[in-house]
Amino acid sequence: MYKITTIPGDGIGKEVLSSTKTILDTINIQFDYDDQKAGKECYKKQGTNLPLETIKSCEKTDATLFGAVTSIKEQSSAIVSLRKKLNLHMNLRPIKSPYNKDIDFIIIRENTEGLYSQLEKITDDGAIATRKITKKASENIINDAFKYAITTNRKKVTAVHKANVLKITDGLFKDIFYKESLQYPEIIANDFYVDATAMYLITQPQEFDIIVTTNLFGDILSDEAGGLIGSLGLIPSANVGYENMLFEPVHGSAPDISGKQIANPTAMILSASLMLEFLDENKEAENIKQAVYETISENKHLTPDLKGTATTNEMTNAIIKKL
Ligand code: ATP
Repeated sequence: MYKITTIPGDGIGKEVLSSTKTILDTINIQFDYDDQKAGKECYKKQGTNLPLETIKSCEKTDATLFGAVTSIKEQSSAIVSLRKKLNLHMNLRPIKSPYNKDIDFIIIRENTEGLYSQLEKITDDGAIATRKITKKASENIINDAFKYAITTNRKKVTAVHKANVLKITDGLFKDIFYKESLQYPEIIANDFYVDATAMYLITQPQEFDIIVTTNLFGDILSDEAGGLIGSLGLIPSANVGYENMLFEPVHGSAPDISGKQIANPTAMILSASLMLEFLDENKEAENIKQAVYETISENKHLTPDLKGTATTNEMTNAIIKKL
């Protein structure tokens, strides 16, 4: 039995998390859910978009399943704050196309520093942002990537950087990458510049197995990769630290389609499958993944973003039948 914090949040976050719980009800593992609040609706009722009770629950349970939250101007983003509070230094996004077998890679991004260190200041003639790259955070994320390659039978880790221009910061990241790679002789280690990677993702996506990169580059490349496979409704993600982990779809609360029962539940369901993988429940994780991809390949019960006419519940039930 696993204790899981669930945070449905706003908009379609609630719909896709509800579908995902139905899927988890059908597998041979027991879950004890602790339902918690975050996001815009929570702010309206409680005056905060991230109550302390929610953070405490995430710290106590085995993992968190997070739907999506709508941003509000009064407070900083609930999910960004939660990632910081829980020290979730690794962001992992599997990019797998149901339509093109050549597109199957993982982007692992450092989640705490780089150009998102929020070290900005106004100067006499404009403004400056500091791009912080530490040895410790780089070593951690690079080792995470190689270890993940080994546990998931992947063959290659590619470091993505811009060390020809950012000679000191990305020079450091690249040097640490090759130094750490020596511990993993069974895994191929190579590197590309970020601008070339942006092109190769489109022209030769089959080149990539695991990409490891710094914060901003990872953010941009993963959205590009989202475009590559078609719908935002297909991409799950894991946010992992040494003590906590949280799984969420890459998409947001999608107010434009919320309440219509047309959200694609795939990204949230695959996030739950990733959670099972990180809990070492590999068989059930794989079963869920297969059921999702078989349902999409069958092309019968798909939500409108995948050019179908099914509702969220109909697509969920089709996945359950495959399970
Ligand atoms: P937020 O402010 O919460 O980030 P958003 O609408 O700006 O919301 P997303 O929620 O990521 O950003 O949505 C971007 C677009 O993708 C929207 O048009 C939305 O309808 C569509 N979309 C996102 N997720 C899904 C999904 N699961 N199924 C179908 N369409 C989706």
